Amino acid sequence: MLVSAKEMLTKAKAGHYAVGQFNINNLEWTKSILLTAQELNSPVILGVSEGAGKYMCGFKTVAAMVSAMVDELNITVPVALHLDHGSYEGAKKCIEAGFSSVMFDGSHYPIEENIEKTKELVAICNEKGLSIEAEVGSIGGEEDGVIGAGEVADPDECKRIADLGVTMLAAGIGNIHGKYPENWAGLRFDTLAAIQEKTGAMPLVLHGGTGIPADMIKKAISLGVSKINVNTECQLSFAAATRAYIEAGKDLQGKGFDPRKLLAPGAQAICDTVKEKMELFGSVGKA
Ligand SMILES: [Zn+2]
Repeated sequence: MLVSAKEMLTKAKAGHYAVGQFNINNLEWTKSILLTAQELNSPVILGVSEGAGKYMCGFKTVAAMVSAMVDELNITVPVALHLDHGSYEGAKKCIEAGFSSVMFDGSHYPIEENIEKTKELVAICNEKGLSIEAEVGSIGGEEDGVIGAGEVADPDECKRIADLGVTMLAAGIGNIHGKYPENWAGLRFDTLAAIQEKTGAMPLVLHGGTGIPADMIKKAISLGVSKINVNTECQLSFAAATRAYIEAGKDLQGKGFDPRKLLAPGAQAICDTVKEKMELFGSVGKA
């Protein structure tokens, strides 16, 4: 059964660790992440962007696949199925489709409009028992064609959004999606500390977890980050393992072309990346 992310994140915040959100793209991705979470006895959040939802034939297909897989694989750790960077319409569709959590990314709207739309969705999510993530200060990099410049959130605006009753809050603190450039200035811990100070018990979310050095991740967790999003890193490790398989000519040997063999090294690479992240975030054994 899918659960809201509220309880797992409340526990994480109190216990000073973070739960990973790993984005999924297909069946192999989902299976690798779920099996690793179960093996490590860790709670987990499966993230689905609107683009990935479209790719997987719609949110209903995704919700049905994930629910069935949790059941068939006997996954007993808490699993939340979460819309990543949702639009207002996308969030409504996911609520309808059976997701257990949504993010409404209104960071590109003026703050008043972000507040208005977030408020409406909070009411719907509360009624249905779903968790909801809001965002203040857009996160840099490119995600599904939306390019953010990497703003630093205003802690007062964070407080206003947090007070609407959202479950968790994403705030831009110099983090970006995708690979970090060579000249990246690092996370703005001063801003993060100010946001934490104003929002208290609210679990904070760190997007763009790929390539942030381990010591910065640990410091961010100590300053109230309880959910960390990982997407690009799984894509890179999947691609590298698949490339190595093909470059070694293994697809040309015997039945190496069988998709179950061809995709196996990539699937294992996702398991390894997820394991490494769960250990770093401290969520192992916290299910
Ligand atoms: Zn993000």
